[in-house]
Amino acid sequence: MFAIALPASAQNQMTPERAASIKADLAGQIDGMKKQAQVMSDTVFSFGELGFQEFETSKYLTGLLEKEGFKIERGVAGIPTAFVATWGQGKPVIALGSDIDDIPQASQKPGIPYHAPMIEGAPGHGEGHNSGMPLNIIAALAVKKVMEREHLTGTLKLWPGIAEELLGAKAFYVRAGLFKDVDIVLFAHVGDNLRVTSGAGDRTTGLVSVEYTFKGETAHAAGAPWRGRSALDAVELMDVGWNFRREHIRVGSRVHYVITNGGDQPNVVPSNATVWYYYREADYQHIMNLWKIGDDMAQAAALMTGTTVTSRLLGAAWPGHFSVPIAEDMYENITKVGLPQWSEQDQALAKALQRDLKVPERGLAMKIPDLKKPQPPSDDDDGVGGVGGGSDDIGDISWVVPTVTLNYPSNIPGGPGHNWANAISMATPIAHKGVVAGAKVQAMTILDILTRPELVDKAWDYFRNVQTKNTKYQTFLRPDDKPAIWLNQKTMEIYRPQMKALYYDPSKYDTYLDQLGIKYGEWK
Ligand SMILES: [Zn+2]
Repeated sequence: MFAIALPASAQNQMTPERAASIKADLAGQIDGMKKQAQVMSDTVFSFGELGFQEFETSKYLTGLLEKEGFKIERGVAGIPTAFVATWGQGKPVIALGSDIDDIPQASQKPGIPYHAPMIEGAPGHGEGHNSGMPLNIIAALAVKKVMEREHLTGTLKLWPGIAEELLGAKAFYVRAGLFKDVDIVLFAHVGDNLRVTSGAGDRTTGLVSVEYTFKGETAHAAGAPWRGRSALDAVELMDVGWNFRREHIRVGSRVHYVITNGGDQPNVVPSNATVWYYYREADYQHIMNLWKIGDDMAQAAALMTGTTVTSRLLGAAWPGHFSVPIAEDMYENITKVGLPQWSEQDQALAKALQRDLKVPERGLAMKIPDLKKPQPPSDDDDGVGGVGGGSDDIGDISWVVPTVTLNYPSNIPGGPGHNWANAISMATPIAHKGVVAGAKVQAMTILDILTRPELVDKAWDYFRNVQTKNTKYQTFLRPDDKPAIWLNQKTMEIYRPQMKALYYDPSKYDTYLDQLGIKYGEWK
């Protein structure tokens, strides 16, 4: 007998019957990890860390993964809280990602259907980013067991989305080559149903996040104002310029700003002022066009005020495009897994919140939506563009590796997003059940990728011959741009001491709700 060296993935092939029985086994294993899902989601919820400051979260997750035999690379792409955890060997290489940062001002007691901050003004998981990495970890641990038992080759890589709310990291991951050898990326993002996007999303956009700093001259604002040059005037003129210009750009464009430095006190002409812009559009070229208009306005405002201006890039995101073959496979697994069984209390909490928010009282998701057919790009829209919408920097990754995003039902339908209301379910049984359902879908899809090499081939065929046929990825990052790792540092310094006192201690309390003294299903 000769030992024939088969391509790694060919060794993994199995009959559909065998695969189906392993999927049932994966689902059973994951049901057995409910407690871990709850502890991990509640723990990360209690850390409540803003983008680039996810130190406790990163330490906690890498600690868990290290114990399970994953090799950890910390501080990747020049970002202290970023990591890659790797287990296994050979092809295929499957990378599982999810974001871990939270939202300013979103502190909220879980399980209470109205605004009730744990700490007034503090950040909180008002987008549910506490749940995605727990989902991936549970899926990976279940699959790892199966791979060991069945002698399947393949590599699992787990990585967190850092500072997603700032679109801060993933373009830098791509630039650092984190996905060079990866075959497929499975991303998970909280939602209010089980679904997967196929092709370009409905209303997804990309963006650049650009900060402009004007410099002038201080002077006594009453005694010698003619000697001053106001950087704040420049900021205001730039903003006024944009607010007139916005009627004359495409409907789907979104331009928004905050003034992060407007000077020190009224009697000193502000010599320094900073305004921070997001320029959002449907594609690379239109984003670049907005950026150019913004840079021109900044220059014009500097000329008007006798100040100077510099700018730096704080974040960037390509509009996402998701692998149709992988999405179709994942959708089959979604229909197999189905939605969680919601309890009466789960539904009561959802409806009470919806009442409070004055949106239809439809409760939690009861039906899985159909897989949307990918929309071909329209070329007869008269240059109007789409209607616009949010962005996620998973977009950058989706243009270098076949990628899908799984949404799982840990959140309550009807929240405004980026808000305390979206934090309410995130350390309750609703979130825990959503994580368990999502982990099953993720694990089954990993198994399909491991055991069906033709699925990987189909994904790359779609990637090369459809997705990137006419659109080639080019980064928004300029060679000198660096991750904005200083962002949110001061805010976390203010709130972290109070937040620390409320970190979840699973050795003392069964759930975080118990620790906070919140009786699930009872509120005033
Ligand atoms: Zn998000």
